Amino acid sequence: MSAVTEAVRPYTSYVYAYPHKTAYRPLPDRPALAGLWADEPKDALSLYAHIPFCEVRCGFCNLFTRIGAPDELTTRYLDALDRQATAVREALGDAAPVRFATAAFGGGTPTFLTAAELERLCDIAERRMGADLRAVPLSVETSPSTATADRLAVLAERGATRLSIGVQSFVEAEARAAVRPQRRAEVEAALGRIRDTGVPVLNIDLIYGIDGQTEASWRRSLDAALVWRPEELYLYPLYVRPLTGLGRKGPAESDREWDERRLRLYRHGRDHLLARGYEQVSMRMFRRADAPALGPDDHACQTDGMIGLGCGARSYTSRLHYSFDYAVGMPEIRSIIDTYTGTRDFSRAEVGRRVDAGEARRRHLLQSLLQAAGMPLADYAARFGGSPFDDFGAELARFEERGWLDTGAPAGLLRLSPEGLAHSDGLGPELFSPAVRAAMAAYEAK
Ligand code: SF4
Repeated sequence: MSAVTEAVRPYTSYVYAYPHKTAYRPLPDRPALAGLWADEPKDALSLYAHIPFCEVRCGFCNLFTRIGAPDELTTRYLDALDRQATAVREALGDAAPVRFATAAFGGGTPTFLTAAELERLCDIAERRMGADLRAVPLSVETSPSTATADRLAVLAERGATRLSIGVQSFVEAEARAAVRPQRRAEVEAALGRIRDTGVPVLNIDLIYGIDGQTEASWRRSLDAALVWRPEELYLYPLYVRPLTGLGRKGPAESDREWDERRLRLYRHGRDHLLARGYEQVSMRMFRRADAPALGPDDHACQTDGMIGLGCGARSYTSRLHYSFDYAVGMPEIRSIIDTYTGTRDFSRAEVGRRVDAGEARRRHLLQSLLQAAGMPLADYAARFGGSPFDDFGAELARFEERGWLDTGAPAGLLRLSPEGLAHSDGLGPELFSPAVRAAMAAYEAK
């Protein structure tokens, strides 16, 4: 097979949730949360709190986050989060047992909050929502400059089982090229502080495809990360997206050359980790073979509901995905956060997308197929009846033609080949429905 499969770009988009937020729209009926959740199973929910603040805006980042928090904005944000949590918990009711099976704080950078503010965030999760943080997996994202000993101590004491740090590159020149200037010594010191907490799972995020990055410099970053024996490593391809710092600049090489370089770096990184005792969980995620699995997989829960708190968080019932308004540009993000902090009534879903039976099948296929372990056909049949070959025959035939399906997989297992996994970010978007694709295309980036 050629390095880049003919006419198929390997890096279209990262499918971490389907449908993507750019397919969400204002919900004209603003449905009440109490009604949305009334008939949903609520005994194994996921809780996610979104903290949309960072010290800097990295050049590659299109997450919902702003730089800094002037005028006690974090206090007002946590006040709003508290009000939202109260409203959501009330909407979940007590007619059926409500239990959270996992929790995560993401962003942005949750550790942008002070130690005292992190205590408050944990209190909101526990006292308002009823999540037992010390009894369930709790994953928290951090960054080198905000991973201070006092903040990490709070998180460890409140039950964090996984700390995930975005390093991106241990090579200072590459960090600068990705518009994330940081000193190597600062990164190493932060990793030392994280290990000192004794939190069982350390995840390190790295990025490949940065301007000037070669196989040799990529390996230097990988080896520098491996010194810490992280239980998990996420290897992200670099994307240049509209309205981000890099989106305004663009790489010097052609798209095709860049695709080929990213594929080379991916394969190099994958093989390097596989040879050093790591298992591949998905295109991005690698887990040390002897590590405990205490964080969420690179795998949004297929069947269980999700409660998102904060203005960048999504919530999922089986029939509706909802959130607040979405933007990438800084002025719009600031204004959405201001609207959120001024909101008094959190009892309704404002922006979202309904997920019908066809979309639920797509979502299941997408999220299972993008896992290295593949998808047991029996799981699909049990949930939906029938086979994905009946529902998505044309797409799967195309993938097979391109060598993306593992023809040697055990009977009853639909699994990607190593090349299919390498092309996850091209393959995933091909499974989007025409309706979702049209909504995403009509979305105007702001
Ligand atoms: S990559 Fe992380 S630290 Fe950088 S701007 Fe995005 S959320 Fe903030």
